[in-house]
Amino acid sequence: MATIKLASGHNMPIVGFGLWKVDQNTTAETVYEAIKVGYRLFDGAYDYQNEKEAGLGIKKAIQEGIVKRDDVFVTTKLWNNYHSKEKAKKMAYAQRESWGLEYIDLYLIHFPIALKYIEPEKLRYPGWWMDEAHQVVETDRVPVSETWQALEELVDEGVVRSIGVSNFSTQLLYDMLTYNRHPISSLQIEHHPYLVQDTLIKMAQENGIVITGYSTFGPQSFIELPPAFRKRAEVVPTLFENPVIQKLAKKYGRPAGQILLRWATQRGIAVIPKSNNVARLKQNLEVNDFSMTDDELAETAALDAGLRFNDPGFYLERPLRIFD
Ligand code: NAD
Repeated sequence: MATIKLASGHNMPIVGFGLWKVDQNTTAETVYEAIKVGYRLFDGAYDYQNEKEAGLGIKKAIQEGIVKRDDVFVTTKLWNNYHSKEKAKKMAYAQRESWGLEYIDLYLIHFPIALKYIEPEKLRYPGWWMDEAHQVVETDRVPVSETWQALEELVDEGVVRSIGVSNFSTQLLYDMLTYNRHPISSLQIEHHPYLVQDTLIKMAQENGIVITGYSTFGPQSFIELPPAFRKRAEVVPTLFENPVIQKLAKKYGRPAGQILLRWATQRGIAVIPKSNNVARLKQNLEVNDFSMTDDELAETAALDAGLRFNDPGFYLERPLRIFD
């Protein structure tokens, strides 16, 4: 499995498996099967509510001698209601306990916005951004610096090995680089040909921050969500059928999904596609044994439409305009 070196010194596989919307009941088996197919990176989050089950799948593979703990790379994320130093640390310890794997490889701040504390057991999907009654989205006065310091202490305490952020902008990253003690190892962002984000990617890469791209297939992941969340996705053509992607798929004799994934990895971006289907799992993993030309990468990038699907400034009734 090809890996990429993080600023922390640890290696992260360049292709992984994304755990968002993987049903809790099937997660352990899906993860175990994914390991058998060859996956070594799993991308989870408190938000996805399947960390314990993913950990069980990994532990089964370890017990059967298919992999060792150090062969597997676990990423997970801190949710918005737990940004205060005390809550962030408590949450990370609890998440490590859920995975049951001794340490977390990469721990990310999920979104650059602190929300008021809600007891974990009172958070109910899909109301993650809101209070229990799904009425109020209430921000909290916690600076990113406080949350980052919590993550740094978690590294010192051996709970997590590398730390990073998700959905952050260049301004925040530049700011963090004025006070960070441990490196920002990775920035995880939405990334596909409809949302190319050249400036953000360049800035991160120039500063040694490895980009992980999510929702590589663009609208695909969002059309299966409740109405407010799929509104933007359902009115645009799929990327799989886009003529540029189709042309490349034909030329390289590859499914369109592989073209989209390879376009990202050729830009030095790690990918974490999600699939519940074993044949596609395999297909999504085998993306680094062909290369497109620079012109073809540019032609794909020219599909950019600044189209963001994971946008709480759009899908929340009381918007959080973090990307504007
Ligand atoms: P994705 O681009 O991986 O798309 C998933 C969808 O594409 C699913 O509907 C799946 O059935 C379908 N699919 C998978 N492989 C396919 C193939 N080969 N051909 C055709 N269809 C295929 O989108 P995603 O799940 O949104 O993103 C991947 C992962 O990124 C998530 O699981 C999660 O781990 C992470 N993520 C992180 C954030 C964040 O805020 N940090 C947000 C969204 C997702």
